[in-house]
Amino acid sequence: MRYGMAIDTRKCVGCSDCVVACQTENNIEHGYARDWITETVEGIYPTMVLEHRSERCNHCENTPCVRTCPTGASHVIEGGIIKVTKHECIGCGACIESCPYDARYFHTEGWVDKCTFCDHRVNNGQDPACVSVCPTYCMYFGDLDDKNSEVSKIVASRKWKVLAPEAGTKPQIFYLT
Ligand code: SF4
Ligand code: SF4
Ligand code: SF4
Repeated sequence: MRYGMAIDTRKCVGCSDCVVACQTENNIEHGYARDWITETVEGIYPTMVLEHRSERCNHCENTPCVRTCPTGASHVIEGGIIKVTKHECIGCGACIESCPYDARYFHTEGWVDKCTFCDHRVNNGQDPACVSVCPTYCMYFGDLDDKNSEVSKIVASRKWKVLAPEAGTKPQIFYLT
């Protein structure tokens, strides 16, 4: 079992519904977010394309954030989801420094927070909150080890990229292009 996500950059309109859904579902403090929207321009004039991307922790297979954590607060759970145990986090910031995606932030209570792939929902057979509200249905979540899952099929049938592949972290979020 390896959870992952595919996000179709051709269908994402940058509406930020996924960001608001995450903030609401996970009671994120005002002014903070576990996911965010990035806009980049791809191509050369006159065939340029504006790309919106919904970004979050990539739940990497090779995890500098887990390796550098001195207390074990950052850890991997079943399905390859990377989590932080609040009461074991001493707020040293090593994981934040080591993440190439800037996917973590300091909670005002002194621990580090990030996307959990909404594992509390996934354990109940639901999609992560962001996926469940996307109005263009451009997000796919599921088991990448299951060749018959929707996410595996779309990753197998479309061109895709991962962010910062040079970092060697083996991200589990695939941006369909
Ligand atoms: Fe893109 Fe869907 Fe997020 Fe809107 S909700 S920004 S369409 S991924
Ligand atoms: Fe760790 Fe950053 Fe990868 Fe998430 S995106 S697993 S925080 S290195
Ligand atoms: Fe681990 Fe917390 Fe330090 Fe991050 S801030 S490396 S989770 S102890």
